[in-house]
Amino acid sequence: MSDCIFCRIADGEIPTDFVYRDDEVAAFRDVNPQAPTHILVIPRQHIASSAHAEDPSVWGMLIGRAVKIAKELGLDEKGYRMVINTGEQGGQTVPHLHLHLLAGRNLGWPPG
Ligand code: AMP
Repeated sequence: MSDCIFCRIADGEIPTDFVYRDDEVAAFRDVNPQAPTHILVIPRQHIASSAHAEDPSVWGMLIGRAVKIAKELGLDEKGYRMVINTGEQGGQTVPHLHLHLLAGRNLGWPPG
């Protein structure tokens, strides 16, 4: 979608240092990091939110790549968290499905 900022990032229209990119997935650093490592992993296809992703292949693709990226960056040594905010009360602010990959500090629970 031409008016979706994450589509434009994934397509290279907005200059971005990709942590990872292939035909299906793009990953880049969050502009407002909430942890020493804060990466957004997104499908390159526009999907508005997890509520629009009933096809299980989307999840294999997205979470599988997040696990691969975490391993490549060595985040699995101390651990990390994956977060997917969905909709207004879920805290989603960008309407393109994205997985937050957070690491590098002790992360509190429950979330705020
Ligand atoms: P959420 O609140 O779950 O929808 O997460 C959206 C995230 O996108 C936030 O953590 C923002 O800081 C991040 N964000 C918004 N615009 C950009 C951008 N242009 N580049 C990188 N991260 C962004």
